[in-house]
Amino acid sequence: MARAGPRGDDVVAVMSGREYHSVIRPWVDALLEQDPTEDCIIWPFGRTSKGYGEFVDQPGGRTRAAHVVICERTHGPCPSGMEVSHSCNNGRGGCVNPAHMIWDTRTGNRRNAPNVVLTPEKAEAIRARYEAGGVSMRALGREYGVNHGTIRAIVTGETWKP
Ligand SMILES: [Zn+2]
Repeated sequence: MARAGPRGDDVVAVMSGREYHSVIRPWVDALLEQDPTEDCIIWPFGRTSKGYGEFVDQPGGRTRAAHVVICERTHGPCPSGMEVSHSCNNGRGGCVNPAHMIWDTRTGNRRNAPNVVLTPEKAEAIRARYEAGGVSMRALGREYGVNHGTIRAIVTGETWKP
């Protein structure tokens, strides 16, 4: 069964927990074994209304946040007072690329927030340039000194809504 994801795309709803051992766990194992990649890797299963990946770890089990579980398996248990920080700022886009996640303090995590780096005027300029076409998110990110995940968040209206 599929349901619409936060962006309107179909995501596989794997929320009963029955699919954990046959589908989700092998997917996560393969993710952790593959060579690091630069691009965001989007969680292909169920997502929260905020866009983060989620799954149920056994029938009747508890719901787990996919990015937290993958960060735990990459960097060890979450240190006290810390949370997952996405270097790509694409956590709400469902990114679970282990190379994009570290444990950081909440303050440090905010440091990554686009509004620290960009003004609303700059964000508006980025959106206009992207909508005009002919320029990639990556090129805009380089030009403005921010990650392409930040650019994506701006052009999709996830941040800096007018
Ligand atoms: Zn990412």
